Amino acid sequence: MKLATRMGRLGTETAFEVLVKARKLEAEGKDVVHLEIGEPDFDTPANIIEAGTHALNNGFTHYGPSAGLPDLRKRIAEDVAVTRDIPVTADNVVVTPGGKPIMFFSILAVVDEGDEVIYPNPGFPIYESMIKFVGGVPVPMQLHESKDFNMDVDDVARKITPKTKMIIINSPNNPCGSVMTREQMKAIADLAVKHDIVVLADEIYKRFLFEGEFESITQFPGMPERTIILDGFSKTYAMTGWRIGYGVMPKPLVEPISRLVTNSVSCTPAAVQMAALEALNGSQEEAYGMVREFKRRRDIIVKGLNAIPGITCKNPKGAFYVFPNVTGTGMTSRDFADRLLQEGGVAALAGEAFGQYGKGYLRFSFANSAENIKKALGRIETFAKNNRKK
Ligand code: PLP
Repeated sequence: MKLATRMGRLGTETAFEVLVKARKLEAEGKDVVHLEIGEPDFDTPANIIEAGTHALNNGFTHYGPSAGLPDLRKRIAEDVAVTRDIPVTADNVVVTPGGKPIMFFSILAVVDEGDEVIYPNPGFPIYESMIKFVGGVPVPMQLHESKDFNMDVDDVARKITPKTKMIIINSPNNPCGSVMTREQMKAIADLAVKHDIVVLADEIYKRFLFEGEFESITQFPGMPERTIILDGFSKTYAMTGWRIGYGVMPKPLVEPISRLVTNSVSCTPAAVQMAALEALNGSQEEAYGMVREFKRRRDIIVKGLNAIPGITCKNPKGAFYVFPNVTGTGMTSRDFADRLLQEGGVAALAGEAFGQYGKGYLRFSFANSAENIKKALGRIETFAKNNRKK
C-alpha cells in the first residue's frame, strides 16, 4: 500500500510505544516499573463514575452537538472565567474527546503550508508532528536547563518572522515540569500582540502546581482574542481513558473547529460529558489530594535521582514528570532508556522523544506509587553504577 506523502511527516508519541515494549517484557515474565506513561495512577473519583453510568442508564447514548452539550460548555466557561480571570462564555468553548484533538484541530484550522510555528522543545511531541503534518515549518523554542527549563525570551523574539503564525506554550510543561514565570508569559504575550500571532496555550497541567499560583497567558491585554486554551479532564480528574477535553477560543474559531469535530468524530460521547460536568460540579477534594500526593512523590524521586552518580535532576514546579540530565553517566539518553528497560526493569522515555533539545535527558513520570518509585530508584542506581562510562 502506498501511503499519502503527508504520512511521512506525521510523528508519534513514544510513550505509547515504550508501554507496548514494557508490556511485552512483562508477558515474558520480567518485572517492570512503569515510569513512562503520563497518566495519574489514581482511579477516577467515584462521584464522576456514578454520573457517567447514571447518564448511560438515562438516555445519554445518542449523538450530540459537535461543539459539546450546552450545559457542559456553560459550566466549562464559568470555570475558565474564574481560574483565568477573563470573560468567557459557552460559545467560546468546544468540547472534544481529550485535549489532544484541540492541538490537532487548532493547528489544522490556523496553520497554512509554509507558515512558521514556534513550539517548546523539549516539548510534547504532537506539536511538532502536527505542524509538519499540515505543511507548516516547526521552529523550536529551546527550553534551557540553565533557565529551569524555560525559554530565552530574546531568542524567541529573534525567531519571529513575517511567516510566524502561531506560538505554542505549555506551562506547567511536559516533559520538564517547568512553569513559566509571569514575566516570561508577559514577554511572549507582548510579542504575540505586536506581531499578530495566535497562541496555543496548553494548560492541561494547570492543577499540578507544587508552588505558586497558576498563571495563564490570557491574563494579558490583547490575549483572550488571540489565544486558544487547551485543557481537559484527563490529568486533573484521572480520566485519561474517558477521552474528554476542551478548547476555549476566540469566537471566530469556534465554528471552524466544531466543523473539524463534525468531519472527524462527530461529537464527544454524551455520557462522558455528563461525567465531566460532575467533575466540575462535585467536590474537588480528591483532585487536590492527588496533587498533594504527587508533590510527596516528586520529593522522593528528585532526591533519589540526585544521589545517583552521573545524574542531576532539577526540582519540577509542576506536572508529574522529572527530566534528569544523564550525560554524567557517559551513556546516551537513548541507550540509557533502552537498556534501563531491557536490563534494569524500569520503563522511561529518552529525552529525544521530546525533540532534539531533549538529548541527554530522560523523562520519568512520577504518577506511580511511592513504593514503586523507590523500587525504580534502586534499579536505576544499580544500572547507572554498573554501566557508568565516565
Ligand atoms: N498536552 C500535554 C502537554 C499532554 O502531556 C497531554 C497528555 O499527555 C495532552 C495535552 C493531552 O491529554 P488528553 O488528550 O488525554 O486530554
